[in-house]
Formats: sequence, C-alpha cells, structure tokens
Amino acid sequence: MSTRLMDVNDAGKEAISSISDIQLYIDGVFVHADSKETFENISPFTNEPINRVASGDTEDIDQAVKAARKAFKGEWGNLKVKERLAYIYRIADLIDEHIDEIAPLESYDTGLPLSQTKKMVARSAHNFRFYAEMVSSRLVGDVYQVDDEFLNYTIHKPVGIAGLITPWNAPFMLETWKIAPALATGNTVILKPAEWSPLTANRLAEIIDKAGLPDGVFNVVHGYGEKAGAALVAHPDVELISFTGETTTGSEIMKNGADSLKRFSMELGGKSPIIVFDDADLDRALDAATWGIFSFNGERCTANSRLYLHESVADTFVERLKERVQNIIVGDPMREETQVGPLIHKKHYNNVKGYLELAKEEGCEVISGHIPEDMSRGNFIAPTILLNAHNNMRVIQEEIFGPVIAVMTFKEEEEVIELANDVRYGLAGYVWTKDMQRGHRVAQAVDSGMLWVNSQNVRDLRTPFGGSKHSGIGREGGYYAFEFYTEVQIIHVALKDHHIPQFGKK
Ligand code: NAD
Repeated sequence: MSTRLMDVNDAGKEAISSISDIQLYIDGVFVHADSKETFENISPFTNEPINRVASGDTEDIDQAVKAARKAFKGEWGNLKVKERLAYIYRIADLIDEHIDEIAPLESYDTGLPLSQTKKMVARSAHNFRFYAEMVSSRLVGDVYQVDDEFLNYTIHKPVGIAGLITPWNAPFMLETWKIAPALATGNTVILKPAEWSPLTANRLAEIIDKAGLPDGVFNVVHGYGEKAGAALVAHPDVELISFTGETTTGSEIMKNGADSLKRFSMELGGKSPIIVFDDADLDRALDAATWGIFSFNGERCTANSRLYLHESVADTFVERLKERVQNIIVGDPMREETQVGPLIHKKHYNNVKGYLELAKEEGCEVISGHIPEDMSRGNFIAPTILLNAHNNMRVIQEEIFGPVIAVMTFKEEEEVIELANDVRYGLAGYVWTKDMQRGHRVAQAVDSGMLWVNSQNVRDLRTPFGGSKHSGIGREGGYYAFEFYTEVQIIHVALKDHHIPQFGKK
C-alpha cells in the first residue's frame, strides 16, 4: 500500500489505513443492521475486499423513519432558521477541514482519480454553504394583494422526511447535493447510498455527528437497492424521494412509491451530444470533448458520449482525438497524475466491455488507448473512440457510462439537430461554434435539460440542474430545489368584512 499512497498526504494515509467495517447511522448512533447481515465492499483497483458494510433492510428503514419523525416533530422542527443554518455552515466547514481524508477515501472506494475527487469534495462543502445562503436569501414567499379587501401570501414549510437514494459515480458530491437543500429547508433525512461506494457516506455521518445536529435529523441506511432502497421508497411515512441513478431504476421506484403517493425528484441517465461546427475554436472543442467524456472515468451522467463533427473538420479532429486518447494517463486513482482510473465494479466493467464488443458487431471501428501492464487486477477500460458510428446503433442509443466516445459527422444544422435529438435521453448537450446566432439557435433546438455553448460543463449552482425526456423529472439546484423540498402554503386573509352567502338564514 505504501507505494500506492505516495501522492496521498498523511491525513489521507491515516484515513485509508484505518478503514474498518461500517455500520448504519440511525438516531445519532452507529449500529449494526437489525439482521446483522453485511456485504463486501470491493476495491476497483485490485478487486480485493476493502471492508464489510452493514446491510440494511425494512426493519432498519423503519427505525430510521421513527428517528427522523421524532427529530422533525421535536428539536429540529422547532429551531429558528438561523440556528438551523448555523448547523449547515458547520457541516461545510468540517468538510473543508477534512478534504485531505475524504478525497483519498473516495478515490480508494470508487476508482475516481484523486485530482478529481479533491475537487468534488471541495464542491460538496460548497453545496452546504450555498444552500445555507440560498435559504436565507431566496426562500421567500409571494404576496397577492386584492385591493384593500384581501392579502394572500405564500409560505414555505419543510415537507417532512426526505429519502435520498444516490448512485456510485460521484457519491460524496451527489449525496451532499441532495442533503444540503433537504436539511437547509428544514426536513430530516434518510440517505441510502449506493452499495458499491459506501465509504464516504459514513465519513459524512461522522462529520454531521461532530457538527452536533440533533439525533435523528440525518440517518444513513446502507444496503441493496431492492431491499433498503425499496423499503425507503415504500415507507408510508417518508414524504419524498430524491433519486439519482439509472432510468430503469427510476421508473421502478416511481411504481413502488405510487401507493404511498410519494413526491419524486428523478435525476436519470444520459447520452449527451457534443456538436462541433466548422467555425468552432477546434483546440478548445477538442479539450472539452476529451475532458467531458474521459473525466470521472467516463462514469459521468452529463458525459458528451456522442460527438457530432461537421464533415469539413472531422478528419483532422478525429486524428487529434486519437492522439489524445493514446496519451491519456490511465492508472492508479491514488496517483495525482492519473487521468482515468478503474471502473467502479467488475459487473460494470463487464457491461462496458460488452458494449465494446457490440460496437464491433454493429460495424464500428474501435480505437483504444493504453492501460499500463501492472494494472491487470483492476477494472480498467482504456479510453476508447468508436468510429463509423450512426444513430440507429445500440451503442449510440444506450448509455454506456464508461470512457467511450462515439464519433459521427454531419453537413447541415437541421440534420445535426435531428441526430442530437434522436435518443430517448435529454440530460445535457454541448455546442461549439463562433457564430453566436447559430449557437443560441442550436442550443434552443436540442432537447436537453442543460446545454452548454462553447463551454465544458461549467456549473453555476444557482441554475436548474436536471434532464428532460427519459433523463429526469424535476430540477434540483438553486431555488428550483425549494419546489421539491418544501410545501408551499397559501394563506388568505380578509382585511374587511366581505360578503359571505348566508345559507339557511331566515
Ligand atoms: P442505479 O439506478 O443502479 O442505482 C442508484 C441507487 O438506486 C443505488 O443506491 C441503488 O442501490 C438504488 N436502487 C436500485 N434499485 C432500487 C430499488 N428498486 N428501489 C430503491 N432503490 C434502488 O444507478 P447507478 O448504477 O448507481 O448509477 C449510474 C446511473 O446514474 C447512470 O445511469 C447515470 O447516468 C445516472 N446518474 C444520473 C445523474 C443525473 O444527475 N441525471 C447523476 C449521476 C448519475
């Protein structure tokens, strides 16, 4: 382990060497699952066990719901907003203090390169700070004045217990992206982290514990999706479910939550296009396309997995992309220089490998970069380009969720808009052109929740985040999250004695 961790500082080394089996966090206490069952957490880099994780189920979800309800009705629910937000700021500060431990743990658990997890963890602290600021400045109601007769106004109330179900691709960042607005608006939380990436969720529970939040406000129940996740979704006392994950899982969850009339936020899969016109700044477009698909090991929901090149620039662009792919540094996620690490799990690796086989069968030329020889125990897929692709292939229609970019060409603007929209997903899109009229025109014509023009996925947390079509329902981010995490109540007040019909009066 020592040579593996040469780029990790002492705090990170200490965090990794002290990894132990992890428990659930319910009502302010770390506990075994009621069944005492555990599951194995496997290293993406070696495929050896890292630790064992308590495997929660219905009984544990039940306990967490009771604790969350008690906190919601009790101490947490009675706090002044300022007092509540002081806790949120404290969580942000504590995350910042522990970046050097959390980022290496995340890389160790997920295979995401260290240089990238450091940024994700810093962003996670920002998620809390941002939502504390948003609640104080933007959680405001409307007033509707009706002459001098009525004053109608809205207020926002927390909904109750928020069930948060998260994926493994950027675990700590995505968990905090949900927890921060849920807590800042006054709800209590039960987090069900992805079973392939449990480590940092427990580090977060330790941090929240240290921040001193009342017991039961924040709970973590690890476990399989079809057990702990399904129990959370079906529980009649959980008011809302914010889910990020695969489209098919989202659809299953909505069915299972129908009986208890859950409120849902759905952040689902993607197959996002990047369109490069002949007048684009090709150097920058190349940087953006390469980073957009190969960062996060290609396991990024907003990855630009479909590259549409104007035919007049396609040959040169592809040559330069091939060169990039050969030079990308694939390796140990714990090394600072690594750009692409191993995929999260053998199952996911086999899935992506299967798509590369399929690409050949469907007629693509498959061009791959290099994996160093000593990486053979990990779930490594070299950065890969699919050439000769077209829209009616499965590799173009389905989300691969690995370091694989498919290249296609186009002649006309209308043609490329049609190609870009010809998938069931609509999460993100990217357009590169110096003609800003065309930039706006194409941006508006692409069916996607988010569209970047001459930019590579630079986020502005105030803006809505989410997908259209099969990529999602609802928006998180900015004050858009308030629609989901709060109940809006309208209060009608009469300022005068207005006419009231007098039924039955003699
Ligand atoms: P997944 O759907 O397999 O699992 C996500 C979570 O759902 C896990 O915690 C899992 O345990 C849980 N789960 C599974 N079945 C469940 C059930 N029946 N009931 C309740 N919970 C259940 O997704 P994944 O493989 O972890 O993540 C990858 C997917 O996430 C990709 O499709 C990616 O595009 C998507 N994603 C989307 C966004 C976005 O913002 N739109 C962001 C990140 C990832």
